[in-house]
Amino acid sequence: MTTRPYVIDEMISAKSIAAKVESLAREIASEFRDTEQLVVVGLLRGSFIFIADLVRELKLPVEVDFLEVSSYGNAMESSREVRILKDLRTGVEGRDVLVVEDIVDTGHTLRHVVNLLQSRGPRRLRTIALLDKPSRRETDIKADWTGFEIPDEFVVGYGIDYAQRDRNLPHIGKVRFTE
Ligand code: 5GP
Ligand code: MG
Ligand code: MG
Repeated sequence: MTTRPYVIDEMISAKSIAAKVESLAREIASEFRDTEQLVVVGLLRGSFIFIADLVRELKLPVEVDFLEVSSYGNAMESSREVRILKDLRTGVEGRDVLVVEDIVDTGHTLRHVVNLLQSRGPRRLRTIALLDKPSRRETDIKADWTGFEIPDEFVVGYGIDYAQRDRNLPHIGKVRFTE
């Protein structure tokens, strides 16, 4: 996909992200300290780096699984309609589950995923998002843990893309168009 020319301005450094992941992992480990095996569900694709860092900081037995839902596609506009593209491999009934999301924006994606997984009867279901844009919210959902609240800017890096680019940036940056 072609994109307009742009540059990326750093918003959150790799160092701040690492420190945040460490402190979030401590809180999560404490919440799930009595859990036999936590099911950590990453929402593809944007959460893949966050989940990789997070599970390595979690001193807990975990199973890792992934769910893919359609949201942005390659555009910069959110779709209010959420479809499952890839379902979980594992069953979550009676189990403790942590959903890992990259960004909560309008909230439709997380709302839909939480409703879906709740319907499968987990023992405990919690959510974590690396980033939150509260000013964009259109639903009443909030992740149980949030890394950073950010303003209404289009961001990339640390797993998050613009038209499938820039996922491999070690920091979070905002996209600034130059033309
Ligand atoms: P929501 O359903 O909350 O509106 O959107 C959730 C999804 O939209 C996020 O998981 C993410 O994939 C995408 N999204 C929201 N804001 C941004 C952004 O600033 N940059 C990118 N690349 N994706 C975003
Ligand atoms: Mg996402
Ligand atoms: Mg995307």
